[in-house]
Amino acid sequence: MGSIVLFGPPGAGKGTQAQRIMEHTGLPQVSTGDMLRAAVKEGSPIGLEAKSYMDRGALVPDDVILGLIEDRITHADAVNGVMFDGFPRTIPQAEALQNLTEITHVLAIDVPDERIVERICGRSTCGTCGTVYHDTFNPVPPSGCSCGSYVEKRRKDDNADTVLTRLSAYHDQTSPLADWYDAIGLFHPVNGDRDIAEITEDLLELLN
Ligand code: ADP
Ligand code: ADP
Repeated sequence: MGSIVLFGPPGAGKGTQAQRIMEHTGLPQVSTGDMLRAAVKEGSPIGLEAKSYMDRGALVPDDVILGLIEDRITHADAVNGVMFDGFPRTIPQAEALQNLTEITHVLAIDVPDERIVERICGRSTCGTCGTVYHDTFNPVPPSGCSCGSYVEKRRKDDNADTVLTRLSAYHDQTSPLADWYDAIGLFHPVNGDRDIAEITEDLLELLN
């Protein structure tokens, strides 16, 4: 089996779906956003370089991202492929990826712009296990997170202003990848403006 790309605008539900389909594919989720946030927290040189871009909602330069990916896919758990979440986001990133690993599916979660702000502004994650929640659409159960020790985490860039910059970066730099992947027969769009479980069903069907 090769690798899968989860594609879509910020807040489309890529991470949410990755967590759900991981149980079926066994492929690890590789989120460049999560890797960058870990680098920022650590204060590593990559983190220091990435922070100003992330804080304003701009894309981090391709060479930084590709360095992270080249290292990540050498880890033992990536031997059968991975599920990329939030990568690639530019045509040069996609071109470089073709030389690194085989991509079998690009699963695109389509969500209209007017839904994105409400999704992102209501997002939280459990700081212990990373489960993604939404204040309205996917709330933390009254009994707490299934991991047993819920710690609420909210991202600094999940605010209404930065979302608009992130959306315009998506339209300018990332959305051209849809045609690029379609031209090589890998692109599979699904309607992401539905219940989380219905989307998961469609994605699993595409992977069968
Ligand atoms: P991404 O990884 O694409 O940025 P997330 O998976 O973090 O997106 O989802 C963004 C927010 O939207 C989260 O709060 C999540 O709970 C919520 N969400 C995800 N999928 C749906 C859906 N189908 N309907 C409503 N809310 C959703
Ligand atoms: P979301 O999908 O919710 O927008 P991510 O966690 O994927 O958020 O990304 C957060 C930020 O990290 C982006 O706004 C961008 O600054 C940076 N980033 C993540 N992945 C990439 C990438 N592949 N290329 C460039 N920048 C990236």
